[in-house]
Parts: sequence; C-alpha cells; structure tokens
Amino acid sequence: MSKESDRRLGMNRAIARRDFLQGVAVGVTFGSLAPELAEAAEQEAQNAAGYYPPARLGMRGSHPGSFEAAHELRDGDFWNSATSLIDTGETYDLVVVGGGISGLSAAWFYRAAKPGAKILIIENHDDFGGHAKRNEFHINGRMELINGGTYEIGSPYPYSKVAGGLLKSLGIDAARLSKECDDPLVYGDLKYGVFFDRETFGADRLVTLAPSDWEKPKRAAWKSFLAEAPLGDPVRRSILKIETGTENYYPGLDSDQKKDRLWRISYKDYLLNVVKADPAVMPLYLHLTDELWGCGIDAVSALDCWGMGHPGFAGLGLTPGGPSLKRMGYTPAGYSTAGGSENFHFPDGNASIARLLVRALIPDSIPGHDARDVVTARADYSKLDRPDNDVRIRLNNLVVRARNGGKGVEVAYTQSHGGGKVWRVRAHDCVLANWNTTIPYLVPELPAAQKAALHSLVKCPLVYTNVALRNWTSFHRLGIGRVYAPGSWHTGVNLSPAVNIGSYRSARSPEEPIVIRMMRAPAKPGLSEYDQNRAGRVDLLQTTFETFERNIRDQLARTLEPGGFDPARDIEGIAVNRWPHGYAPEYNSLWDRDFDADHGPNLIARKRFGRIAIANSDSGYAAYTDCAIDQAHRAVGELLNV
Ligand SMILES: Cc1cc2nc3c(=O)[nH]c(=O)nc-3n(C[C@H](O)[C@H](O)[C@H](O)COP(=O)(O)OP(=O)(O)OC[C@H]3O[C@@H](n4cnc5c(N)ncnc54)[C@H](O)[C@@H]3O)c2cc1C
Repeated sequence: MSKESDRRLGMNRAIARRDFLQGVAVGVTFGSLAPELAEAAEQEAQNAAGYYPPARLGMRGSHPGSFEAAHELRDGDFWNSATSLIDTGETYDLVVVGGGISGLSAAWFYRAAKPGAKILIIENHDDFGGHAKRNEFHINGRMELINGGTYEIGSPYPYSKVAGGLLKSLGIDAARLSKECDDPLVYGDLKYGVFFDRETFGADRLVTLAPSDWEKPKRAAWKSFLAEAPLGDPVRRSILKIETGTENYYPGLDSDQKKDRLWRISYKDYLLNVVKADPAVMPLYLHLTDELWGCGIDAVSALDCWGMGHPGFAGLGLTPGGPSLKRMGYTPAGYSTAGGSENFHFPDGNASIARLLVRALIPDSIPGHDARDVVTARADYSKLDRPDNDVRIRLNNLVVRARNGGKGVEVAYTQSHGGGKVWRVRAHDCVLANWNTTIPYLVPELPAAQKAALHSLVKCPLVYTNVALRNWTSFHRLGIGRVYAPGSWHTGVNLSPAVNIGSYRSARSPEEPIVIRMMRAPAKPGLSEYDQNRAGRVDLLQTTFETFERNIRDQLARTLEPGGFDPARDIEGIAVNRWPHGYAPEYNSLWDRDFDADHGPNLIARKRFGRIAIANSDSGYAAYTDCAIDQAHRAVGELLNV
C-alpha cells in the first residue's frame, strides 16, 4: 500500500494501541531498585502501580512476551540457556498451571473440598482468565467492555450439576440475568450484510438481507439479494437452489441413512457433488464455518453444517439429532436452561466468570458482592500474589516443568518472555489446566502413548479483533448490525451485542461510541482440520500488528464508507486478540471416525500421573466453559480421592 493510501486509512493516526494503557505507557522500569528487589519486582510486574492488563490494547490474546519461553521449551533450547534455578522455598497444597476458567475452577473445587488449602496459580499471560479475556476501552469518558475470547455461557450440552452449581455459587443465574439484562433490539431493526470484495467477486459491494430471511429463507427476498450481488447468473441460480430449494437429494433413504451419508462427506462436497451447485458458489460459502470451527466447510461434515442450520437440507426431511452429535457424548437436547444461557452474556463475555472466580478465591482483589457489580469493578492486581494470601495468582510466568518426587510435585517456572532464570516451588498436588498439547514438554516422564495423545489435541487458531469506534452512525445509515465478508481479511464484523447490567450501559444512540468485533480464522483450505489448524497457528504468529491494523482499516473503509465511515477519523482503538491455541479440539467425523466417547484421545491424554492431574477444556474434547469447569472438577477429584 502507498503512503497516501496509508494516510487515508489513518495508519499514521495516534490511537490507543500497542502496549499502551489507554495513552499511558505500560512499561515499568526497575533500574532504580536494589538488585534483589529489582529481581522480585521484575518477576512480579503485576505488583507495579497502574498494572491493569484489561485496558491494554494492540496485540492481545497470546500477546508478545507471553510465549517466547514456551517456544524455546518446545524447540529443545530452553534448558540449555537456563541460567539459574532459584528455590523460592514456597510450598503449597496445590499448584495450578494455567489461570483460565479451568485452572481457576480447579482452585475453587480444591478449596471447597479442603477449606484453608494454600494454592498457587501460575499463568503465562499478563492477565488471568485465559480465553475468557476482558478488553476494556475508555472512549470520551465511557468504559466500553467486550470479550477478547470466550463469550457465551451457552453450550450445546446441558450444563452438568457441577458446572451449573459453580455458576450458581458465584451468583450467576443465567436465565434470570437474561430476562433482566437483555435488550436485543436496542440498536433497532438492523439487517445482516454480505460484503462482496473486488479481489474475490470483482467488485466491492455490500448487500443486505433481513435476519428473518437469512434464518427462514424466502425465495423473493433471496432473489432480490442475488440481483444486487456481483455474481453471474449460473451462480445466482445455484445459490437460490441451495438457500431455498426443497429437493430430496437422497430419494429412497430414510433419515438415519441420509445422516450417515452426510456424516462422511464435507459440506463442500455435499454442495458441489450432491446438490450439484456451480463451483463458483464456493467463495461465498467456504467461510461459513470459520467462527465455530476455525476452518472452512471443506473440513467440516455436511451433517454438522445441517446441525448448525446451514442451507441446502430443507428437502431431506431429517429428524432432529444425529450420529455425529452422539459420538463424543454430545446430546441432541440442544441448549440447556440448567446453568447456561445462549441469550445472556456479560459485556466482557465469560471474563466476568473468571473475575467472579478470582473474587471468590481472593476476596479483596475485586470489590463488590454480586454478578452485576463485578462488571464495572476494577481488579487490584497487586493483591493477587501476596505472601499472606491463601490463594495466590502469579502472572507473566510460564511453567516449564512439573515433576513428581518425594510426597508431592516440584514445579519450575520462568518469565514467559524468557530470560533464563527458573524458579521452583513445591506442592502436594498439581493440576495442569494449560493447553494439553504442550504438556509433554512440561512432563517428559509421561508414558509415550500418553504424550502422543496429548500432542494430538491440536487447538484451533482464531482471532477476535475488537475495534473501538467514536460512533456507529455508518452502521445505522446502512441499516446493518453484522456483516459476513467471505473474501475479506476478517470474515465477520458485528456491533458488540448490547447489554445493560449493574451500572454498565451499552451504547444506545448511533452517536455514542461502540466497540465492534471482527473475526478471522487463519485456516488453510484443502488440508485436514488439524493440519489447517497447525498451518493457521504459524500464519498467526508471523502476522504483525501493523498488517492487522492496515487490513482492519482497509476492510472497514470499503464496507462502511457508503455510510459515511472514515477510518482515519472514526477508529479510536484496536485490540487484536490472537489465539494461536484457541478452541479445544472437538470430534470431527471426517477425521476422527476411529474413536468415540469411550476411546477419544483426550481420555488417554488426561490420565493422572502420580500427583499430577490434567484439566482444561482440551481434556473434555469440547471448547466450552462448562467443559472447562467439569474437567477441573474431575482433575481435582482424581487428586483428592487417592
Ligand atoms: C476466541 C474464543 C472464543 C470462545 N468463545 C466461547 C464461548 O462463547 N463460549 C464458550 O463456552 N467457550 C468459548 N470458547 C472456548 C474456551 O476455550 C472455553 O470456554 C474456556 O474458556 C477454556 O478454558 P480453559 O481454562 O480450559 O483454557 P484456557 O482459557 O485456554 O486457559 C488455559 C490457560 O493456561 C495458560 N497456560 C498455557 N501454558 C501454560 C504454562 N506452561 N504455564 C502457565 N500457564 C500456561 C494459558 O495462557 C491460558 O491462560 C472460546 C475460545 C476462544 C479462543
């Protein structure tokens, strides 16, 4: 891009981004301290005045400085360059590795079973919560919250008694909060937009469709939508057939037999070879599954796409539920009312659950007393790792080893960005609630079969980019609330869903600031799901913030300029939450046909090893909050019952 184009996009404009606390530099210098104090301070940056990671912008999620030592460990370089092993002399009942919802829940369950237990949680990011990350923007005196990762309490499974019970103990009654707080029409009756980009479709064009026509397709509405789209007539006919057709493509087969066929082929194969759509429809449909699966429809079964409500199945007469859904212990019962809710969400997503857990574990670290006031409460990070706490949370440190020995476990950790120093603590028990695929590097003594199973639990990379805008008048003028952009850098753009809770108020009028969310899955079509994930992770870690920013500005300009949007004027801040290790793996019938609920690799992977137990949503093979909680409960149970 030229300098002129960069200037037009506002690349030179000072906005709140990389490593700035909304204008205040985050960097802390320790040069003026005595060496031993400097070392302690350096190790515990979280104690520095003004330390407040939710307000950091720029590259978030797996932010720079959080994983460098992990990659040295993976590459076999870490221990060669380790300079010193410092025994802290600290001993705990339990050390938890990973401060995501699973790790925090493990601490909660352990304390519930053993009141007064001393627990240390070690987390390699600068904030707790893991994927349940809070992004906090301050624009014109208003606090705008949004999730950097985990968003909904809803889950396709009924919440277990354990997971639902934990939410209840934290004061979260999702069904009640849903009634109290939700106001889905607050932005007005906005439509869905599809942005056709010129590189993929030959022309930049935004075409809209009412949500009801999207969800319950009507032929007339689709005809007028397609008439405006920059597509040729054969492609339009194919799309109309997919969206509104009622043909039975498998005559003579009953519902189960049809599902069995759909379970074995990708949705892409189904559209091209069963529906016999024009191959030129693919650029429109390929990314439909990005948001939920982190990869395109070439790597997701047609049956799962039917289950998610994607089009092309209306004439098949399929009965609800299906073999794929049952395979890994899924139930076809749909969303549960016992704990989860697909309707209610906190303004910062499930970061509020993480914050409620932290408040329960370290009461004076976050003021307030219920699930409403936690939303606007400011956490005091200097209270998380005080020596007199029963529960301590140590941020910015990466566990590099967990070793059974004597009557417990020795846990070694280093600063996440590297630096060579290693610290050591001891504990009676240890829960590894971190990404399971990395566990063999921490516990090389594990049996080979278990290590292989752990390595196979490849997570799916994805990005939630949050962009603060000074107002949303362009969306309002265009009459859109969300955009599917199948050929663009981010394939989804939407206004942050509104919610009022406690003293928090979402934007109401289009003149008010708002945060929008953009979604990108760096998948590589044509490979198996897990190879797409591996390739996407490399891609993600190599992409600079500058590249992200330029693409964000360019995409928003091209989509919203007809509504008066000016990227140089209207963008106030950007947080790119990149998750190279995102969703936990889930059963995919195209690649995982050999195992089922009793033989999944997660079952081999999560076996207790001495006094080390394994949690995280990976160990339940499902990328959901209830799963992260259930797995924590199981892991703690394994330690306390032996
Ligand atoms: C973008 C995104 C959106 C999502 N949306 C939803 C949603 O709407 N609803 C839902 O239910 N689920 C959602 N999920 C799934 C989410 O993964 C789970 O719900 C849940 O938050 C996972 O919690 P966890 O504790 O198992 O894992 P994580 O949140 O990943 O926590 C693991 C923690 O371990 C830390 N760690 C890793 N290695 C080490 C080490 N060696 N030393 C110390 N710490 C380490 C990591 O940094 C991380 O903080 C989403 C996930 C992503 C990525």
